[in-house]
Amino acid sequence: MTSQRGAWAPQSEHIGYAEIVQKAVKSSDALYRNGLGMIASENIVSPAVRDIVGSDLHGRYAEGLPGKRYYQGCKDFDTIEALGIELAQKVFGAPFANIQSISGTVSNIGALKALAKPGDAITAVSTADGGHISHARMGAVGLRDLNLTTYPWDEERMEPDVDAACKTIRDVKPKVALFGQSVFLFPTPLEEMANAAKEVGASVMYDGAHVLGLIAGGQFQDPLREGADLMTGSSHKTFPGPQGGFLLSSSEDETFHRKLNNAMFPGVCSSYHLHHVAGKVMALAEFMEYGEAYARDIVSNAQAFAGALAAEGFDVLAESRGYTASHQVLTRHGDLDSGAGAKAAQLLEDAGIITNMNMLPGDTKAMTPSGLRLGVQELTRVGFSKEDMEVVASFYARVLLQGEDPATVRNDVHELKQNRQTIGYCFNEDERSGYPE
Ligand SMILES: *Cc1c(COP(=O)(O)O)cnc(C)c1O
Repeated sequence: MTSQRGAWAPQSEHIGYAEIVQKAVKSSDALYRNGLGMIASENIVSPAVRDIVGSDLHGRYAEGLPGKRYYQGCKDFDTIEALGIELAQKVFGAPFANIQSISGTVSNIGALKALAKPGDAITAVSTADGGHISHARMGAVGLRDLNLTTYPWDEERMEPDVDAACKTIRDVKPKVALFGQSVFLFPTPLEEMANAAKEVGASVMYDGAHVLGLIAGGQFQDPLREGADLMTGSSHKTFPGPQGGFLLSSSEDETFHRKLNNAMFPGVCSSYHLHHVAGKVMALAEFMEYGEAYARDIVSNAQAFAGALAAEGFDVLAESRGYTASHQVLTRHGDLDSGAGAKAAQLLEDAGIITNMNMLPGDTKAMTPSGLRLGVQELTRVGFSKEDMEVVASFYARVLLQGEDPATVRNDVHELKQNRQTIGYCFNEDERSGYPE
């Protein structure tokens, strides 16, 4: 008798597709295992989180909130989500937390749904100054049909020009004053601008996508106590969890809490990816144990890396402010709009160092920018020390300043990374590699 499985024996062409995808996944795994992942929005997850993300929860649904479900079979997931809400409230010091969002962008769409109506005004940082696409007409702000005014920007300090931004807020009288960026070197001087926003009745929203782990670890700023009503963010950048988002609020108002929960479900999610939610809860538990040390090490590694790059002769931005107070470092590699950043990023990839080109102040074209945005959060996670960051800076110099063949440098990159495979700041440290084998 032919089994059902036998009846499904694939045609060779279809097996070919399967081999292509399997091979590419293995190759991508190896690229990051052997190379240096330095994209500021990325991270790797702990073995405990990785197990959960691969669990059966992947295929399940739970709509609603713990104890109030539309489906059966949710008893265990109720335990998980209820614990996660409690841990998120503790880790971020937030009276309200929703952990369902499937990404930082979805958190922002949900937040804007809760805070504003189509046609309302919003103020935010422009994408040219480092604001995220979801803060722009092309993204969530446009999707909600909000009228955007951007803040005047202080290029020297790499932050909103506080006096001018307060004036913008008082003139525009937005429904939402949104703060936070994707290019994020220094804490936002929030209090004065938040006060201006409150004067005109605006909600203050802070997008902490990049810096959420630094905030939770007490190493950046504390937006919910500096005037933000709402904080959104990703769970996978400096916060070292699986891909997803958070929605956090300083408000004690239960009507507002209901509005925020409704904005996530049924607002912007049906299934909210239970395996990722459970992974977030594990990451929150690990963060309670190790998060402060992790955040501190990230910032000191970023500062060490920036200093080492400058010593090698690179043009590192914000020298007058000590280069950075976050996980990010910005470097300029040529004239504005010259595409020098794109060229540098390609040469570095050839050497096994994965980065991204980025617009810097004055650049006007996203595809031919002059700079790079670099992040040290992943390298920190696998044990890179400040001395290691100097070695990494020397790799950059060999490839980009001394014109050495990237293939030669790649050998040294692989050798350095060989002994930096174990993920730290998590339970079961030392037992398993931070990278899938
Ligand atoms: C990365 C980022 C987001 C989007 O997060 P995703 O999880 O990628 O959707 C939102 N806001 C800012 C400021 C970001 O940098």
